[in-house]
Amino acid sequence: MTPQTDPQAGAAVKAADRAHVFHSWSAQDLIDPLAVAGAEGSYFWDYDGNRYLDFASGLVYTNIGYQHPKVVAALQEQAGKLATFAPAFAIEARSEAARLIAERTPGDLDKIFFTNGGADAVEHAVRMARLHTGRSKVLSAYRSYHGGTQQAVNITGDPRRWPSDSGTAGVVHFWAPYLYRSRFYAETEQQECERALEHLETTIAFEGPGTIAALILETIPGTAGIMVPPRGYLAGVRDLCDKYGIVFVLDEVMAGFGRTGEWFAADLFEVTPDLMTFAKGVNSGYVPLGGVAISGKIAETFAKRPYPGGLTYSGHPLACAAAVATINVMAEEGVVANAAVVGAQVIEPGLRELAARHASVGEVRGVGMFWALELVKNRETREPLVPYNAAGEANAPMAAFAATAKANGLWPFVNMNRTHVVPPCTITEAEAKEGLAALDAALSVADKYA
Ligand code: PMP
Repeated sequence: MTPQTDPQAGAAVKAADRAHVFHSWSAQDLIDPLAVAGAEGSYFWDYDGNRYLDFASGLVYTNIGYQHPKVVAALQEQAGKLATFAPAFAIEARSEAARLIAERTPGDLDKIFFTNGGADAVEHAVRMARLHTGRSKVLSAYRSYHGGTQQAVNITGDPRRWPSDSGTAGVVHFWAPYLYRSRFYAETEQQECERALEHLETTIAFEGPGTIAALILETIPGTAGIMVPPRGYLAGVRDLCDKYGIVFVLDEVMAGFGRTGEWFAADLFEVTPDLMTFAKGVNSGYVPLGGVAISGKIAETFAKRPYPGGLTYSGHPLACAAAVATINVMAEEGVVANAAVVGAQVIEPGLRELAARHASVGEVRGVGMFWALELVKNRETREPLVPYNAAGEANAPMAAFAATAKANGLWPFVNMNRTHVVPPCTITEAEAKEGLAALDAALSVADKYA
């Protein structure tokens, strides 16, 4: 791969962007987006020829890296054959994508409803649950992110909900396990698990079980901090949902398709939800695609009665062709196993070694290619390195951390007081080590604020 060097072309791209592109989650005049000239595998580069190792996988979605030749070829082939077709028809790319996904999802999640991305997958999962149960409320965790559309943002628990929340219409939030900052005064995983389940059952009891349609959780909360739940928690939630007739939805938009070193994070905990949302890694984001994997019991509700919802581009042939190619690449090239092995043998020990040397690292947690470093001012008090900031405004310590990472050729994922280590699942051992070395330099800067 040869990084292009054409600063003038980059300046033109940037000028048009600044004039006309309205960016997500940003104060438009306060941002300075990097003009990107190209990308390949685990890397991308700018017009000045600076190359970055992408430890963020874009927005945690390029699970097989950029410009995989087999996916690019599949897209070209599909475009030549049938570039678009309406959702009410049986199309080869769509039926093959659904088959490959259903074969890999846990249990009897055998029917696939396709959406354009993660948020609308959550919208439809909740609608299915409401129609299935005839109930209206939705339970979700405070430390969660479920998408940016109106209902998905209401269901989201993290502070990105605040500016858009219309009053949590029918949504009740609860505390899920997070031992490092336990709401339950727990000191062990087992205590955290038991107390979180007790808190959840009490919440259900006081809300009225007969009013609750769905309980939605990210299998491993992603953007909110990669809090791997204690063993037994998700099985306990499954039991509570069964006991009270609540539809259990797992949101695997970020954790699915290899991210955790399993096809789905649900496999790690051996739980099967009633509905499972996915997006991102399903086709590495080459074309927007998401969906809901539907269990037999929920599918039955809509066997003779119409499902009252749909999308113009549901199961778009290009998106589905990219999914077929991506899933085949993952299977043929051992991508899921690579995430597990490089995660366990290089990333985890590397991050633990960094934590031992850097005072700013409060906790390392994660699995596979899904890791978080929580940065703190003080390891004893666990005071976060920066205060929570719903506006997402720049803050000196994390900005300095990110700038140093970038100066060392690493593009980091930074959120509040955390950096998430979420590289492509195809990352090589050498690339992982290169990224860890750049993180080392960036953490030395964070240490100055600790
Ligand atoms: N759920 C989860 C767990 C996510 O991480 C995201 C996106 N980060 C979404 C839903 C929303 O997905 P999208 O941005 O594709 O709408």
